[in-house]
Amino acid sequence: MHRRTFLKNAGIAGSLLAISPLSCTFAKSGSEEFPLLDLHVHLTDSFTIDSLMEISKNTGVRFGVVENPGFRVRDDATLEQYIESLLPYPVYIGLQPMRPGWSALFSPELIAKLDYVLMDAQTIPSGNNYGEILQIWNFDTYIDDPEYFMEKYMAQILQVINNDEPLNIFGWPLFLPVCIARDYYTLWTEDRMQQIIAALKNKKLNIEINDLAHTPHEKFILMAKEEGLKFTFGSDTRDNKAGRLDYCKYIAKKCNLKSEDFFIPSRIIGKS
Ligand SMILES: [Zn+2]
Repeated sequence: MHRRTFLKNAGIAGSLLAISPLSCTFAKSGSEEFPLLDLHVHLTDSFTIDSLMEISKNTGVRFGVVENPGFRVRDDATLEQYIESLLPYPVYIGLQPMRPGWSALFSPELIAKLDYVLMDAQTIPSGNNYGEILQIWNFDTYIDDPEYFMEKYMAQILQVINNDEPLNIFGWPLFLPVCIARDYYTLWTEDRMQQIIAALKNKKLNIEINDLAHTPHEKFILMAKEEGLKFTFGSDTRDNKAGRLDYCKYIAKKCNLKSEDFFIPSRIIGKS
């Protein structure tokens, strides 16, 4: 059911959570100010909404929960159940579809009850010359020709962005598979970055700063900011790493992002 398997941390979280509870969404980070909001968290049987609320209480970070459609949430009944189960809690409620066509599973009225939809482009059909469907979060993703891969990856990114289904946040931007990650700064040419930013701007989408992947980098964020695009923080966690956001906070400060540079879903949620 889960896209990624993470090692469970030892039970030292309590001693690491040294930050005092904060009473509002915004927290000072040096001289800068931006929302401590992690909009990319998955719940599991062992990492429950109560576990998440405990982290929120201890750190002041607020959260948005997402489900990948097609598993626990797969039709109107299960989507409604999912939304209803989270409404009593001070969290935003989202979906993270994994492929275009997902909205056919649900009625538009129910989709409209969601706070946001987040989608990435990590499944690449025919991503190599062996015709394989690549799931690029896997460390054994096989790439024979980086330029060929980048062409296919760009096409998939643009398809996800331009897909005519509800979408608010583009996730995992510029993430590269392990085998070519060392070439990040040469493979992400200015032209490719501009194409992505233009497409995101055209569709009025927001950009996830991904804490797990440490993407995107400073230059891309500044280019997107220049075009007036907004950002979100996303940890893509399903355990007690939720809300740490160390990379997000670091790069947001470096890029001088302010609260107005962030997308925050419009629904008013209570204090945790
Ligand atoms: Zn996710």
